[in-house]
Amino acid sequence: MPRRAPVSVFARLRPLEPGGSEIDPCISVCTAGRTVTVRSGGDSDGHGPADRAGRELVVPCRAVWGPDTSQSEVFASVGLPQVNAALSGVNASVIAYGQTGAGKTYTVCGGGTPATAGIVSRAVQQLFAGAVGAPALEAVHGSFSVRVSFCEIYGDTIVDLLAEQSYQRPWARSTSTSRADGRAASAVSVVDDPADGSVALLGLTHARVADAAEAMALFAQGEALRVVGSHLRNSRSTRAHGIFTLHLEQTALTAPLGETELSSEAVVRSKLHLVDLAGSERVKETGSEGQVLREAGNINRSLSALEHVERALRAPWPLRSELALRRQ
Ligand code: ADP
Ligand code: MG
Repeated sequence: MPRRAPVSVFARLRPLEPGGSEIDPCISVCTAGRTVTVRSGGDSDGHGPADRAGRELVVPCRAVWGPDTSQSEVFASVGLPQVNAALSGVNASVIAYGQTGAGKTYTVCGGGTPATAGIVSRAVQQLFAGAVGAPALEAVHGSFSVRVSFCEIYGDTIVDLLAEQSYQRPWARSTSTSRADGRAASAVSVVDDPADGSVALLGLTHARVADAAEAMALFAQGEALRVVGSHLRNSRSTRAHGIFTLHLEQTALTAPLGETELSSEAVVRSKLHLVDLAGSERVKETGSEGQVLREAGNINRSLSALEHVERALRAPWPLRSELALRRQ
């Protein structure tokens, strides 16, 4: 029986860039009070709460973290419960949302050292560590398998970052946006899955992995294909929404191994989506132009759609109709 998990919001402020200590920060966190306070800079272009001149906005969150917070602290609060949810058979997601340069990719994908490892790496390690001897069903014997998929949404295109066949991206020849290497990725399409009425991604690779190392090797392979651009706020800005998913399948045997067959009811499937969204952007601050400017338009539009989905989900029936969700 599927259960709807609540949505929790966490806020993390990254450290200022070197030399940024001269800047008067307009955002402050109160860890104890679990609030973020945004003080207006007097900008009145009408975009976002910080632009309402002379106002302070307090955003309540489940937890807020300042610049000194480590990756492991963030994982303990944000990632670990979701890994445990997936292991117990519940679909779970971690979604990093924020302005470009805010630290989304750092938080989800991480840096290159063990201390800076992001949620993906920690979740993968935890998943395989937690899976040993702990199938979702209370069974005499069970089996556990993991597949991974990795796609990115760029404009209207969903690209399979783990595909073997090649797909020439229309934007590949752009000079301002580049892939990290010359390999091509493959496009997939969104379809209704007649099996259970859910939405499925047709053609998306689901690669079976035996352990954490295999999963991370595929993640690294996909990361190398992500679209990256450069602007004033981030010299290595991911320009597409990246979705790395761990698909779990756990089966329980109805009797000790070798004595009987599998019970078809005893299969539990769950997913853990780890999402690194492309950042919202004020183009006058990022100085974007050309292809990067067009990307910013697409990114901002898709984030607005996400906001509408979130509002539709919170709305009471009938406003929360499937139609309202699908329109987005
Ligand atoms: P976003 O994905 O939100 O556009 P990034 O994750 O690429 O932003 O972060 C922008 C820059 O800030 C990167 O150089 C990243 O390494 C750095 N950074 C982000 N968050 C932190 C953090 N918590 N600690 C140290 N450096 C960070
Ligand atoms: Mg990014």
